[in-house]
This record gives sequence, C-alpha cells and structure tokens, in this order.
Amino acid sequence: MERGSKTLGTTPTSSRNSIKQTSIRLRGKAIPGAEDRQKKIVGFDQEVFSKSKVVMIGAGGLGSHIAPPLLRKGIGALTIIDNDEVDVTNLNRQRFYEADLEKNKAIALVENLKRECIFATQLTGYALSFDEVIRTGVDLDCDVALCGVDNNPARVASSRYFRQRQIPIIFTAVSADADHGYVFVQEKKGACFGCVFPEAVNNLTFPCPGTPAMIEILQTMGALAVYSVDSCLLKRPRSWNYREIYLSDGQWDSGKQLTARQGCPLHHLQQDYLAG
Ligand SMILES: [Zn+2]
Repeated sequence: MERGSKTLGTTPTSSRNSIKQTSIRLRGKAIPGAEDRQKKIVGFDQEVFSKSKVVMIGAGGLGSHIAPPLLRKGIGALTIIDNDEVDVTNLNRQRFYEADLEKNKAIALVENLKRECIFATQLTGYALSFDEVIRTGVDLDCDVALCGVDNNPARVASSRYFRQRQIPIIFTAVSADADHGYVFVQEKKGACFGCVFPEAVNNLTFPCPGTPAMIEILQTMGALAVYSVDSCLLKRPRSWNYREIYLSDGQWDSGKQLTARQGCPLHHLQQDYLAG
C-alpha cells in the first residue's frame, strides 16, 4: 500500500481484497519567526493557541476555508473527519487539485495542508463519517470543535456529542444561492444547535447532488469561524453566538446572543438546561 507508512488503520472494503486508507497522520514543520506579526495582535496568545486541539467535521467548502488559516496561525493539533471523495465539481471552491480527484477528502486535505503549517501541528484525518468515528472509539478530545457539513443528522450528532463533553462547537453553513451564511457558536452552556434550528433536529434529508456553490461566501464564513475559534480559546472578544452575513445587502446582517429555547428537542437531555 503506497501510503502505508502514514496510516493509522486500514479497512478492507471489497471482496476483491482492495484496501482503503481510513486515516492519516502528519506533522507540520515549525518555521520560527513566521508568527511574528500575529503575536502583536491584542488578545492573541500564540503559546495557548499552539497548545490547542481542534476537531473539524467536514473537509468540503467550509473546511477548506477554515483549516488553512488555523495552520497559518500555528494551531497545536487539527483532526479532520470526512467520508466523502473529491469530485471534479469541488475544484472551484475546495482546497483540492486535479491530482486529488477520487481521493478521500479528509486524507487529501491533510496532505495538502502540510505545506500551510508554520508550527509542528499534529494533523490527523479520518476517512469516515462522524458516526463511524464515534463508533470506532476514536478519541475526539479537543479544546474546540467545528462542524461544516451539509446535512442535519451530522450537525445534530455533533451538537449532542460535544455538549455532553462540555466542549464548544462552531457550526457554519451557507445558502444555496451563495449570498449568505451563518456561524453559530454552541458554548459549554446556553443555546445548542437544536435551540437555534429546532426544525433541523428531525430533518433527515440530505441536500440534492448538484446544489449550486461558489467560493466567496465560503471564505466569508470560514473567516468568521476561524475568529470564533480564537474567541473560544483566547481573550479575543465576541459579543455574539449567532452571526449572519449577506454579501448583497448589509442591512440583513446580524450578530446576536441567542439563549436556550424552552422545549428545545435536543436540550432536554442536557443537565444545564436552566443554566442556559
Ligand atoms: Zn437546545
């Protein structure tokens, strides 16, 4: 197996005994001095940031605009989870190249991200769905998680998983007309994903293949998600937990501090309901 030296595990996937790579682990190279300018930003603590671990669910359009900045800023560890494969229609907006076609997205993104590192970041990728990773018993302990997937079942599962572990998780998504998007920060307490999107909790539908998508709204939401990571880890201020941006008209933009919803379909499992 060509990439055998990098794998953590493999799973036979067909009766022909072909082996599919299910994980990858790489380490970035520290480049002393590369962090000089950002260390001067008030509230940014390089030492804390470079000791922090992030788990990112989804290596598509949103993850492609979240992961590279985290590495340029020198995050300590980044684990990426995605069971999808790179398709030619992804190349207009996702951090993949022609040579990556048909590779698993989590594996290919980790490989492409190594060059983005300025620190000895531990990069890990799992070519599995979030559910499969949980069932496999992989340790997803981290300081903050990110969810940039295109379906509600994975958002709901990750909301539950990280709330139960008291780990903040940042959700982000964009509209199919590529005009607007949101970032929602689910903290250790307070509003959860189900409080903000109660209708999504039992919505098992997946987006239609071929949904329109363009890069600039993904960059916009990626930037807000990356800032949100800083605000969870460091003393960079954030007065909102829900932010919405419209490219076409600023009057619709919003930044709010949402609170827990009575009757939230996810929240009744949480002990901290009243604290929210
Ligand atoms: Zn809730």
